[in-house]
Amino acid sequence: MPFDKNQLLVEEDTNPYHIVQRQIDQAAEIIGLEQHVINILKKPKRVLSVSFPVKMDDGSIKVFEGYRSQHNDALGPTKGGIRFHPDVTLDEVKALSMWMTFKCGVVGLPYGGGKGGVICDPRQHSKSEIERISRGYMEAIADIVGPDRDIPAPDVYTNSQIMGWMMDTYSRMKGVFQPGVITGKPLIIGGSKGRSEATGRGCVYTILQALQMKGMEIKNATVAIQGFGNAGQIVAELLSEAGMKVVAISDSTGAIFSPQGLDVNLVKQYKNTSSILDYHHCNIMENPEELLELDVDVLVPAALENVITKKNAEYVKAKIVAEAANGPLTPAADEILFKKGITVIPDILANAGGVTVSYFEWVQNMMSFYWSEEEVNQKLHTMMINAYEKVTATANDYAIDLRKSAFIISLKQVAEAMVARGWI
Ligand code: NAD
Repeated sequence: MPFDKNQLLVEEDTNPYHIVQRQIDQAAEIIGLEQHVINILKKPKRVLSVSFPVKMDDGSIKVFEGYRSQHNDALGPTKGGIRFHPDVTLDEVKALSMWMTFKCGVVGLPYGGGKGGVICDPRQHSKSEIERISRGYMEAIADIVGPDRDIPAPDVYTNSQIMGWMMDTYSRMKGVFQPGVITGKPLIIGGSKGRSEATGRGCVYTILQALQMKGMEIKNATVAIQGFGNAGQIVAELLSEAGMKVVAISDSTGAIFSPQGLDVNLVKQYKNTSSILDYHHCNIMENPEELLELDVDVLVPAALENVITKKNAEYVKAKIVAEAANGPLTPAADEILFKKGITVIPDILANAGGVTVSYFEWVQNMMSFYWSEEEVNQKLHTMMINAYEKVTATANDYAIDLRKSAFIISLKQVAEAMVARGWI
């Protein structure tokens, strides 16, 4: 069908909370889910809004705001990351907690979805200020989290050190060592081997599976990656180890491109010491957003939400889009890409490796018995491939895209758990 430019005149609703509600409606309609089940799942069960004072290095006091959303706990405690970002909103945190429910459902984890966020820009703060913000936030949400209630983890601009401080704060408040309250911790205090690479590694498993199912060669297949943090860097490293050519990488400072392929390790060194833009053997893209429109085999959005919308979806040329980030495509973009025959591996499947190894970390904390990295990666591989196969089989059954299929699998799981518990 020819591209109708008039479609662009109508503004698209990119509020992530509205988007996830729409995704629920669309999948629920296909399987004829009852309206009361839909009504329960379209809102989080509990949302906490907090504000807390933090002493800055110069002695001044700043008040920070944050949220924690717990979507649905029919299958088990809620679980999901904490984001530190200046653009955090309550609707974003609610949406992310809902995607977590469906992500856990796709992989078959005994969890519901949770998510947290603090409105702050970690790049503007010293390490000790970030420590006090982290401890202040954990103190503010401690009443509603816990190893059997709600278990946070890292997300955008939070890391294992922050998880360590938060675990320490919670344990001190309770007077007992509680490693299972949070995942993504440093190894020495109960972190899991393989956790920091898990989101990227799981995403790579799904990409390789998709290439194989489409009958595409892995060797020299080209890839562009938007976002070069925890998720994006590992995807870049592992795909280039697998023989693929990473031709473009971007972060919040800009985008670099080389048709011969970028040396991922070198780009990483520049990222850590100065900026990816200092990498010499490449072109700097004038408009970083154009990375999304490059003629590559695989495109990996690994930064933030709503980067492919109805404004640019028509120009996406990749054959596979793997959503390492949460919510990078709007529903309108989804439809356009589906019509173009592009395989979209949805976020709730593509980046489920993170929560899967977080689950392994929690299990290891409960047992105080720790696994080798090889064992973790093997278990992750099995769970990701099983989930991928289930999602593609359901998509084929209903002749739908992988996102609707993944939602259907999860909706059925959560609905069954709610029935079993007598909620509905
Ligand atoms: P991160 O903070 O480690 O990295 C984010 C990266 O995105 C940084 O390189 C930053 O420079 C870049 N970025 C920010 N704005 C950008 C822009 N406008 N254009 C290009 N790049 C930009 O975060 P992360 O943990 O890698 O998370 C990235 C995405 O993956 C998020 O959507 C997150 O929710 C999702 N995710 C992360 C995990 C995890 O375990 N860390 C798990 C599941 C999903």
